[in-house]
Amino acid sequence: MNDQLVRVNRDRLWDTLMRLAQIGSCHDAATGLPGVRRLALTDEDAQARRQVIAWMREAGLVVRIDRIGNVYGRRAGTGEDLPCVLMGSHIDSVATGGAFDGTLGVLGAIEVVRTLNDYGAATLKPIEVGFFTEEEGVRFGTDMLGSAVTAGRLTLDYAHKLTDDTGASVADELVRTGFDGPEHERRPIPFAYIECHIEQGPILAAAGVDVGIVIGVQSISWQRLELRGAAGHAGTTPIEHRQDAGLAAAAVIVEIRRMCESGQFGELRGTVGRLAFEPAQTNVIPAGATMTVDMRVPDDDAMTAAEAHLAEFVAGLARGYGVTGSLERMAKTRVVRFSRDVQALLAATADDLGLPYVKAMSGAGHDAQEIAAICPTAMVFVAGEHGGVSHTPREYSNPTACGNGVDLLANAILRLANQPEGSFLGGS
Ligand SMILES: [Zn+2]
Repeated sequence: MNDQLVRVNRDRLWDTLMRLAQIGSCHDAATGLPGVRRLALTDEDAQARRQVIAWMREAGLVVRIDRIGNVYGRRAGTGEDLPCVLMGSHIDSVATGGAFDGTLGVLGAIEVVRTLNDYGAATLKPIEVGFFTEEEGVRFGTDMLGSAVTAGRLTLDYAHKLTDDTGASVADELVRTGFDGPEHERRPIPFAYIECHIEQGPILAAAGVDVGIVIGVQSISWQRLELRGAAGHAGTTPIEHRQDAGLAAAAVIVEIRRMCESGQFGELRGTVGRLAFEPAQTNVIPAGATMTVDMRVPDDDAMTAAEAHLAEFVAGLARGYGVTGSLERMAKTRVVRFSRDVQALLAATADDLGLPYVKAMSGAGHDAQEIAAICPTAMVFVAGEHGGVSHTPREYSNPTACGNGVDLLANAILRLANQPEGSFLGGS
């Protein structure tokens, strides 16, 4: 394992990150900061995709696009028939996001290829850089969409039929933006996958390290809850006669917080991020409420129990509030544990680079949890400032942390790409 270490060009990496952040740049009223708005398969996303593909080609990668709009760039290996070593992430963003979420993994991967080119480093296995469609799930309601189709968890047909709030479908938007790839383009057959991503949490900064090795991703459940009561006059309807869907919605929000604090469901985190009343009039009791419930916990049994409890609580709203509720699942992923072999390789590589690290579970969902179903997978986390805040323009990882994370990615990928087939990690 004491082969040559490479170092990426940090200025070039940073410059690329900052240039991509200009595409879809927006003003965020809440923070007063410039943010990034590149919802999947919008014009801004398409423009960013074209830019990233141009950078891939400049780095000598051969680019192909699949039918869900995932983009792959390939650098040949000397053993061209061998499975590839894959790295990547996503370039779509939430409505007011930052410059690093997803992009660090994609632009970092391109920087790895540029660095290998600079060093004149040939590899045994081919290396591929990928970015996956609609990772955020903000526009079409299902996150990790492109990687889930690649991994076979979701069918292409299911993904194509998803629609946004205006009724536009994934299939139509792929065609409109020019990213409906040809039928015959094959999926990657990876030997291993590594995704470099900002942590989006406070663990690394608290430990005083720039990089982390991710051991897995917690279970995530997204549900839509529709509550149905009865409209009535705000002034004349006696309190005891109301079927107030707004009040029931508030009860659900409070109950979810109570569930998190109870300890009954492990380290559950629950969030109601969207809530809309109908008819939404000042002087009318809400007849309906629609809300989303996001629940996460690093334990599948705890998630099963939390979902069952929520369903029971919603059923009980009829008794307490005269309001009926129906829950509809939008997305659910089980706990994913990443490959111990890839984690061990990352740990050994970090040691060789002199980079201190911690091991951490991911609180957020990532494409890596999907790709883990088809090949040994792990992730590199990069520390963020302001407590690792993300999904806001305040998201910030400094150039040193980004450079260290991509150095770790580069050297781990290089080692994987030169592993003889059959001996996964050279006996480490
Ligand atoms: Zn992300």
